[in-house]
Amino acid sequence: MVNELILVSIIIPLYNKEQYFERCFYSVIKQTYRNIECIIVEDCSTDKSLDLAKKLVDRAKEAAQRAYAPYSHFQVGAAILLSNEEIITGSNQENAAFPSGLCAERIALFYANSQFPDEAVDTIAIAAYSNGDFTENPITPCGACRQVMLEVQNRYNQRVRILLYGKKEIYMIEKITDILPLSFGEDCLNV
Ligand SMILES: [Zn+2]
Repeated sequence: MVNELILVSIIIPLYNKEQYFERCFYSVIKQTYRNIECIIVEDCSTDKSLDLAKKLVDRAKEAAQRAYAPYSHFQVGAAILLSNEEIITGSNQENAAFPSGLCAERIALFYANSQFPDEAVDTIAIAAYSNGDFTENPITPCGACRQVMLEVQNRYNQRVRILLYGKKEIYMIEKITDILPLSFGEDCLNV
């Protein structure tokens, strides 16, 4: 009886997130309330996060073209989106004394942290260029770069999303800990 008196409004966002729509739809059909109104919200805008992701991948691809990789001929570019929406890029820089070079990801991350120490890293996109073209499959960061990404994620207490570009597909990894299991962080020093 009470259920029939209560008006339940269910807001269904049609934009951006298909999974939200699906969840709302199931919420509607499972309602025990009888007096339901559905408010469909459509802002007619494109998904800003997807636009940003595409822009970031493009910037990583551009950065790869600026790599200095005369030894491996494997050019990597990284583009970082900071929380203030600034984009920082880096490319791998090799050296005849191999340990003296550095990966694109760490170059971009260290530059970002040194120039904008108060801005968290939101997303990092990585792309690689080899044998005259971008790689078919997504390129993954090395262990040392993952360790630095973990430090950045912990430092700002905000997940670092990772976009790995390949011509065939792009992987989106929600946070660095997803690709660095049993990681060693600051908390390990306190045991
Ligand atoms: Zn690396």
